[in-house]
Amino acid sequence: MSSCPHHVDGIHLIPIKQHCILAAKSIIEVSGTRDNSAAPFKGNSGKTAEMAYDWIMNAASIETISLDPDPDNGTMMCRPAWEYAETRGKLLEQFMARFVRFNFIWTGFEILTDLISPKNDGARKKTATILLRDHYDPLPRIGEFDPVLECFKCHIRDSHLFNTSLKEFCETDDCTTSGIAIHVCSTLRNSFAHGSLHMPEPNDWNWPTRSNSDEHVLRTIGLASRLMLLSIQMLLVGALNREGLSGQQHHPTSLFTEDDEINLKDFLMTSHRSDITW
Ligand SMILES: [Zn+2]
Repeated sequence: MSSCPHHVDGIHLIPIKQHCILAAKSIIEVSGTRDNSAAPFKGNSGKTAEMAYDWIMNAASIETISLDPDPDNGTMMCRPAWEYAETRGKLLEQFMARFVRFNFIWTGFEILTDLISPKNDGARKKTATILLRDHYDPLPRIGEFDPVLECFKCHIRDSHLFNTSLKEFCETDDCTTSGIAIHVCSTLRNSFAHGSLHMPEPNDWNWPTRSNSDEHVLRTIGLASRLMLLSIQMLLVGALNREGLSGQQHHPTSLFTEDDEINLKDFLMTSHRSDITW
């Protein structure tokens, strides 16, 4: 296990499932805010806030994926080979569940970008980054974003599973804007889509040259999900800022909050933190 200084005691986040639910519900809440002609969602892609909600709730719902460790059925395996296949199968089940969750969150992000942006030219990564630059920056980045990003970079750097372009991306200093996570996560997603992401190996069976532990890989994918959820929250803040709606008090319809009215921007900036209760 690498000695990453960030994840030991530096990150205060609510559990991932709860974080997904909050992000999904926040999209519904932001879609309901308007003032005369100002509305945070101006896109005309035919997509709806409910679609983004559904995908991110799918991410919240994922618990396990089951794999058949011996799909070829009946291969003659000696006992150690069988034990290896079984252990690796269990790891891959966890790996895939995390990867599916990450991909569902990414789908929610793409829908959200289409909802926010009046221009729908398909370049969502760029559109989202520009939106953040123009309507979120130079505010301080959302709480816990920086330690999560640092932890993610640290884990990518130490791992042989991730391709060179992703490692190089994590080494650049171009990490000053809030759009960084969208870029780095799209690189991770592409490395999977284009086949350059390696499968993790179980700890006990690692070759000496392989420095990865299984928790290390699972954690990295989990951090990518966190970064996308935080980016979604910042995009929502950007959409409210753009329309001059971020100062408004709001009656939540879907959020679990004790208060009658909340400031949605304050909620979006802090609701994912385990050290703050709403
Ligand atoms: Zn870490």
